Amino acid sequence: MQPHGSDRTGAGQGATLHAEGRYFDGLSARIHPVTLRLDQRLWIAGPEIAVDWDLFDLVAGDTVAPLMRIGPRGRPARVEVSDSAFADALTARCPDLHRSDDKGSGGNLRLVVWSIAAGLSVILLAIYGVPAIAARLAPVIPISVESRLGSAVADQVDRMLGHPPVCDDGPARAVLDRLVARMAGERGMVGQRGMVGQRGLPGEPRIAVHRHAVANALTLPGGRVIILSSLIDRSETADEFAGILAHEFGHIAARDPMRALLAASGSSFLLSLVLGDLAGSTLIVATGQMALSAGYSRDAETAADAYAVETLRRSGGDAGALATILERVARDEEPDGVASLLRSHPFTRERAHHIRALAGNDTAGRHILTDADWIMLKGICRNVATAAPR
Ligand SMILES: [Zn+2]
Repeated sequence: MQPHGSDRTGAGQGATLHAEGRYFDGLSARIHPVTLRLDQRLWIAGPEIAVDWDLFDLVAGDTVAPLMRIGPRGRPARVEVSDSAFADALTARCPDLHRSDDKGSGGNLRLVVWSIAAGLSVILLAIYGVPAIAARLAPVIPISVESRLGSAVADQVDRMLGHPPVCDDGPARAVLDRLVARMAGERGMVGQRGMVGQRGLPGEPRIAVHRHAVANALTLPGGRVIILSSLIDRSETADEFAGILAHEFGHIAARDPMRALLAASGSSFLLSLVLGDLAGSTLIVATGQMALSAGYSRDAETAADAYAVETLRRSGGDAGALATILERVARDEEPDGVASLLRSHPFTRERAHHIRALAGNDTAGRHILTDADWIMLKGICRNVATAAPR
């Protein structure tokens, strides 16, 4: 259950909404009356219908308000709803809803500003070089562009890891979702649609857990985090795991994945944007490699550590636990191993010292989850029968 009540972001992320709607499977002409529920996903339920859709996949067709017709991109099923509060909430929560027909004035303006920025960037790139531009460009990239890119990169990373099975045991997933909501919510900063506060998250991070023998967490553009299950196995306390997760949120808040991606792909990314070909194959292959193996800068790591300490402190966890798990992984793991945690987040003794200094002693021994919840979360791969691939 998502929390009801205090809605910090207006039409934004907080409340659960309900509405009546009509479902079309896209194959027959039959109309199914359904009940819609909107929280972090869109849930559609009727006598013969029970589906739920990812808000990041939803696009809207051409309709006259208050009628809204939406469905997942590339699939035929559609839902119609005529409830304007519900339609407004969908617009606020689905980053790509109006992507294909950017007719709203805000959409047009963004598009124009963005085209100018992209054009200028190509010129600046030639003059100043890639890293300097990447750092300046990352914060102005629209979230809708970033989330599309993140989805393409996620597919690529999945291929490169050999399609590791998804761990999503229901009760364990519920514990994880609550933990994420709590840590993301404790920051209390969710940007307006299309805008990001300097240190806030652009929305609730999207976490996928995959069964894999390497202990790592990968942060991709669009607020996506891929957890490889060994990281959970290697965490001795929930606070250690939460520390890593919060560190990844720090990278998301700073838009580091986007920065790294821009720096890695440079002009090919900008060309793809100008040509409108975000799924350009060379680009995505390069960025998949980047996501798996590129390390962030020392400054980026320090900032993400500080973010993690503060997040754990505010969420009722042990703020120093991050140092403990980093030390354990550093002791046991080959730093050059494929997709290793240390490669994507370079670890030094100074990092651990710095984390402990920031954390102080006052949160030591706190537990971000109950023992029962932590045991439940540790079993998140119990729905996956096969052995972890290497
Ligand atoms: Zn890091």
